[in-house]
Amino acid sequence: MANAICVMIGQVNAFGVVFFKMEVTECVLVKGEFTGLPPGKHGLHIHSFGDLTNGWISAGPYYNPDDETHGAEEENKKHAGDLGTLEVNEDGLAKLDLTVQHFHLTGIHSIIGRSLVANGQVLIKGTFTGLTRGKHGLHVCTFGNLFNGYHSIGPHFNPRKKLHGGQQDNERHVGDLGNIEANEEGVAEFQIEDQLICLSGAESIIGRAMVIQAEEDDLGKGANEESLITGNTSTGLAWGVIGITEVN
Ligand code: ZN
Repeated sequence: MANAICVMIGQVNAFGVVFFKMEVTECVLVKGEFTGLPPGKHGLHIHSFGDLTNGWISAGPYYNPDDETHGAEEENKKHAGDLGTLEVNEDGLAKLDLTVQHFHLTGIHSIIGRSLVANGQVLIKGTFTGLTRGKHGLHVCTFGNLFNGYHSIGPHFNPRKKLHGGQQDNERHVGDLGNIEANEEGVAEFQIEDQLICLSGAESIIGRAMVIQAEEDDLGKGANEESLITGNTSTGLAWGVIGITEVN
């Protein structure tokens, strides 16, 4: 039997303490409290390395010794590092109380010496004008290469080798942001919070392209091959490179 603790310090005033207790039943009890987090949902994961020289970026990918696909905590197939979602209240507080079987504190699936990371959310907001009324897919594509316009920005950004889906789906490209809706004047104002999109590290969208599509994204439910690649959005209406701007 073994016990472990992780004291987490992060951006702004974020702070957390998580206790791990190995039970005789081969389960690990995970209990923790967090303060100072932005209200809303935050992913919680064990990453492969305990190297924090460059914050969570140097902690490497999700701990995944069995090479499983990523999934929510209640699913059977998951990375050993998946701990599901933290629900943070309006006061920035969150509690964690889990019993997990997919990692251990000793042996080959031990998480000792690795990192625990509470993910932030990226807020994406904007306005489009001149659209046809109705829904239009919004995606981040792989390349920021506009040499050949829409044809050189590549497929939806998909570092996790998934099928196309909706923004809330587990099976989705990182670049899948669902649909935004234009009104009768052709204006679409939108605000999206996303847990997968990030602005630094190996899966950063900086330097890639954002595109608003001609058609509605069927979110992978179109019952044909193209639906699982592009969501049948036809072609792009407007696109641009995601660049760095000043902090505000
Ligand atoms: Zn996609």
